[in-house]
Amino acid sequence: MDMTDSQSAIRIDGKLFAANLRSKLAAAVSATKEKHGFTPGLAVVLVGDDPASDVYVTSKGKQTKEVGMNSLEFRLPDTTSQAAILALVQELNENPDVHGILVQFPVPDHVSQEAVIEAIAPDKDVDGLHPINAGRLASGFAAMAPCTPLGTLMLARDHFGDLSGKHAVIVGRSNLVGKPIAQLFLRENCTVTIAHSRTQDLPAICRQADILVAAVGREEMVRGDWVKPGALVLDVGINRIAAPERGDGKTRLVGDVAYAEAAAVASAITPVPGGIGPMTIACLLCNTLTTSYRLHGLDPLPEFTI
Ligand code: NDP
Repeated sequence: MDMTDSQSAIRIDGKLFAANLRSKLAAAVSATKEKHGFTPGLAVVLVGDDPASDVYVTSKGKQTKEVGMNSLEFRLPDTTSQAAILALVQELNENPDVHGILVQFPVPDHVSQEAVIEAIAPDKDVDGLHPINAGRLASGFAAMAPCTPLGTLMLARDHFGDLSGKHAVIVGRSNLVGKPIAQLFLRENCTVTIAHSRTQDLPAICRQADILVAAVGREEMVRGDWVKPGALVLDVGINRIAAPERGDGKTRLVGDVAYAEAAAVASAITPVPGGIGPMTIACLLCNTLTTSYRLHGLDPLPEFTI
């Protein structure tokens, strides 16, 4: 974390936090091999050649190997049938060397995302998207939290320590991000408000937040005067916009929060890029370590799970 002159808020360095987390994971993986005699393994399936997905999958594979885990990659053409994808998932469900399975979304239109999510064995569902895991999370049972929400929670815990009693306002209610973040903060004894596109007077609701999470997908929608003085602002949004100021026709990434305005009011804020984003893959690896322990009948290591 560092302080800047023109803004009062602490700028939370998610990149550094994620790098430290990966170092701790590497030590834990090495200790696991020594003590328990197995190596956690993650299988990633990519269907089609979407360039953004390709970048994610490549970087997932690289970071998996860097922490000492086994990485399996399956790159299938976009013409692959749903039946063939489900058959591969089934094979991975049965493979004892695979502890985590991730199918990169989006999948091509002829493939049902729901069918793919439901085909993955819940105890290998490192994305935490299977309805059994969503239900377990909501029920307060041992569960698999989706990666970005887990990363968001880790940064909030790092900032505040105990989150009990804080009012967390989550803007966004997707199954991937908003809903599981709300469940995680509820588990931490926060008072949780979930806002969405039909919410009335969103700025007034956001102004009540001790922890304001923006997971909307609308560039700089959350303005400085939506932020309660001293709040923690966690910006999950990733929006690619034109950057005429660069003069090279290139684009740049911005979050769902107007960063400079919010940073003048908040006590701490995550930037985009470099805030929540880098936490996602690190938490995918945390989840893979957790599933590998559970599949071997061991208690997962608490610092890497909920
Ligand atoms: P979705 O499009 O699935 O969900 C967006 C949510 O925002 C919906 O619940 C929607 O409400 C709500 N919303 C849309 N417009 C408004 C509005 N004007 N006011 C209030 N709420 C609104 O997106 P995701 O949840 O998948 O992703 C959200 C953002 O997070 C995106 O920018 C995405 O790129 C980013 N992301 C980042 C990740 C990371 O690694 N950091 C990982 C995953 C996502 P409603 O339900 O009513 O339609």
